[in-house]
Amino acid sequence: MEPQRYQQLLEGLKRLKLRHVRQTLEERNEAAIARQLSYLEYLALLVDDEVAARQATQVQKRLQAARFPSGMTLEEFDFTVQTSVNRQAILDLARLQFVERHENVVLVGPPGVGKTHLAVALGRKAVDRGYRVLFLTVDRLVNDLYASLADGTLKSRLKSYQSQDLLILDELGYLPMDATASNHLFQVISGAYEHCSVIVTSNAPFQEWGHVFATPTLAAAGLDRLLHHAHVFSLRGESYRLRWDTDPALSQAT
Ligand code: ADP
Ligand code: MG
Repeated sequence: MEPQRYQQLLEGLKRLKLRHVRQTLEERNEAAIARQLSYLEYLALLVDDEVAARQATQVQKRLQAARFPSGMTLEEFDFTVQTSVNRQAILDLARLQFVERHENVVLVGPPGVGKTHLAVALGRKAVDRGYRVLFLTVDRLVNDLYASLADGTLKSRLKSYQSQDLLILDELGYLPMDATASNHLFQVISGAYEHCSVIVTSNAPFQEWGHVFATPTLAAAGLDRLLHHAHVFSLRGESYRLRWDTDPALSQAT
């Protein structure tokens, strides 16, 4: 190809924002010649490159937007330590049909048993699949909504939660809420209902969840929506955080 024509091609690709095609053009060209690919096959390879690279960029962006705590992948979760949770059921959730069906997941149990870890692990799988996910502690959610109320952006913030595919609300029921906060939480839950999946983790058993909300009516309506299509897991056991102190084999190993 004439150098000038080639330059035109590069500029055209730039204008069309086909950055990755631009990058792999030479390499793919050489391969196409060596393997005697048809024109269409060559074009298909270039398009594959662009699509794959854009998908990877999008996953990376969504991973950042999700605000996960670091680590906590499903592969890192040791089901032999946490036997009160059905491994198969979690692996089944990791297929993410629950997100497709707008179902919820509720993880209840004492501190340190892996509730947040499992919630984040499922969230990470969802991002890998291209879903929009947001991780928030309930505390943070309440504070953010208070701030939005103050600067007049409450509606748009509530909308931004609803536009997620999966909302992870960590640590429900730690602090009692005033009327405004519990009303906000209710709006998030009812906004998500049958539109967006929610994963909730809590130290408190269901009977105590009512206390989180300011009035019994809000509590009943909120829990009703949250638990309607929910996969509920009750985790038990010692705190994973403390296991180094209590397991003699492990403490010797360090
Ligand atoms: P919870 O949310 O139930 O209080 P976390 O999920 O935050 O507990 O778990 C506490 C810490 O222990 C985290 O660092 C988590 O990654 C780790 N952890 C808990 N359970 C397991 C497990 N079964 N396998 C691997 N790491 C675990
Ligand atoms: Mg936790």
